[in-house]
Amino acid sequence: MSIAIIVHGGAWAIPDDQVEEHRAGCRAARDAGWQILANGGSAMDAVEAAVRILEDAPIFDAGVGSVLNRSGYVELDAAIMDGDNLYYGSVAGVRRIRNPITLARHVLNSPAGMLVAEGAERFAKERGMAFCDPEELIVEREFKIYEQIKSTYDTSKDHASTPPPGERDAQLSAGGYPHRPGDTVGCVAVDSNGWIVAGTSTGGTGYKMVGRVGDAPILGGGLYAMNELGGCSTTGWGESIMRVLLAKTAVDNLHDDIHPQDAATKAIEHLANRAKGIAGCILADRHGRVGWAFNTPRMAHAWRTADGQDGAGV
Ligand code: ASP
Repeated sequence: MSIAIIVHGGAWAIPDDQVEEHRAGCRAARDAGWQILANGGSAMDAVEAAVRILEDAPIFDAGVGSVLNRSGYVELDAAIMDGDNLYYGSVAGVRRIRNPITLARHVLNSPAGMLVAEGAERFAKERGMAFCDPEELIVEREFKIYEQIKSTYDTSKDHASTPPPGERDAQLSAGGYPHRPGDTVGCVAVDSNGWIVAGTSTGGTGYKMVGRVGDAPILGGGLYAMNELGGCSTTGWGESIMRVLLAKTAVDNLHDDIHPQDAATKAIEHLANRAKGIAGCILADRHGRVGWAFNTPRMAHAWRTADGQDGAGV
């Protein structure tokens, strides 16, 4: 079997002065995951290791460095899916866990598929995970953005600024919406046994409503994996991603051994046409081939495959 790994660090208008840090973060995550795969390790270990590195890098909207919600604190969502037995672990709205991908993996090995907020944290404690102070997740960059949005945000227009499905995304891409998708992170890996795993982790969207959960921890939206076809992790405007179950759509597009590049492009076209959505996705298939697509100005990503393909782009 051909091993492969692909990671992403968010799809949006990543500013020029943040490009190198995004690229470096994606490379570091890819290299850590690759090392595990190349030593005969599992796709599950590779995805967890890669996503943890991205969560720990403050440049990304996952773990430390995440965007703040309307009340000025971080709420984290993450999920991991096993493409062999289709089991998944998912957590949403956690506030005191630095690496939610690891908690999601614990959930995968529990009777539940998804745990939220207090229940998720209680379970983390049962599994012996360390808690952090919620303040530790906040970096100055995001605090400043939060303060800036808060000072200009007009709640009386809140309703008006939540237009019907699709239009909000169009406004966002035109730069007219105060919230921005962040640098959600994700990884898909294929190991030497043909096992495919996908994982996604995020702080969600900037200035999100308290309790808002996007696509990232939702099976079929933010991630999907099945060994017969491949795996996918997505990033972008979660509400639009969920309307077309972007990750499942992209994986389904791999039928008849269609190349992941074509499958990813088709999935993003569908998102744009059907839901006026903006997003990016990364794909790896059962042959160890990778592909990606995005309709945002940029998407941070990095990949490596057994046939020597290797790169990182923003
Ligand atoms: N998809 C994430 C969400 O909507 C945001 C992102 O990808 O940056 O929560």
